[in-house]
Amino acid sequence: MKIDIRELVDASGTFESDESVAFEDPAGSEVVAPCHVRVEYRQSPGSLQFNGTVATTLVTQCHRCLDAARQDVAGEFEVMVRRGEHAAEEGDDVVALPLHQCEIDLEPYVHEAVVLATPMLILCREDCRGLCPSCGVNWNRETCACRPSADSRWDALRK
Ligand SMILES: [Zn+2]
Ligand SMILES: [Zn+2]
Repeated sequence: MKIDIRELVDASGTFESDESVAFEDPAGSEVVAPCHVRVEYRQSPGSLQFNGTVATTLVTQCHRCLDAARQDVAGEFEVMVRRGEHAAEEGDDVVALPLHQCEIDLEPYVHEAVVLATPMLILCREDCRGLCPSCGVNWNRETCACRPSADSRWDALRK
């Protein structure tokens, strides 16, 4: 998501873009998320501030039962770009852009925002029962004979 800062002619404004972000979700599945990115910018002499929001719906596997699961994700990022003599103050979320360079790539920030906003556990539904660890049937759809033994580890807790 490369931005040519020469095209940002106003002191402040917004722009939007659709991006595709590929990453590994917390269960290790490779996910490609179509993201809608909305960025507000504000500039003053020597600096340019970006505040972005990223929205997507991940389509991946339920971590418990491996059926398809959808998860809405909304993330945010902030980047400060400094130019010229102000460029020395580089740090976290501060990018020094040399005067001869007019492009900044926001892709890494969009990527990070999605990764950070993705929950550790993605389920097909909140009360997903998962798979039987013995025979592998999907407990959302069927029951199986081994279910009582699989549940026995909870008996100790109930007592
Ligand atoms: Zn599930
Ligand atoms: Zn079973």
